[in-house]
Amino acid sequence: MSQQSDLVNLGLALDRAGGIALDVEPAGGILPPWAGVLTELGISPLGEDARFAAAQAAKQTKGAPLPEVEAVFAKLCGPANAALCAEAVARYRELATARPKKMFSHAMAAAKLNRYDEYAPGAYVLRCPSCGAPRLKAVLHCDFCGADIK
Ligand SMILES: [Zn+2]
Repeated sequence: MSQQSDLVNLGLALDRAGGIALDVEPAGGILPPWAGVLTELGISPLGEDARFAAAQAAKQTKGAPLPEVEAVFAKLCGPANAALCAEAVARYRELATARPKKMFSHAMAAAKLNRYDEYAPGAYVLRCPSCGAPRLKAVLHCDFCGADIK
């Protein structure tokens, strides 16, 4: 497997885990699909009191508690992709604390500016518009296909 498809798969795994985590309601709760992700990765869920306290501390409006999601993203990314992990965690925090109206206006503003740094629906990491490899916000060209990102 090439390094690029490993990275593409990592991006997809982050999107999948993030989506399942965000579907958890109420904020700080746990649902079977998210419990399944934790089990898959060998991560112990937070205790009931701790998880609701963590979600409240992070001002989450929905989703699995941030520290749990951070642990999952870190496990998926490994030390080699710590920067990508940090951006995925920041994105999750943004989505899990957002109110619908705010998200909508943000998307509209980004669409008007025709920005390439907008996330695809359901995505937790940015991608190269040309080959789909995940990329960091600050990186303006793709390491894999060489495409420039404006
Ligand atoms: Zn590319």
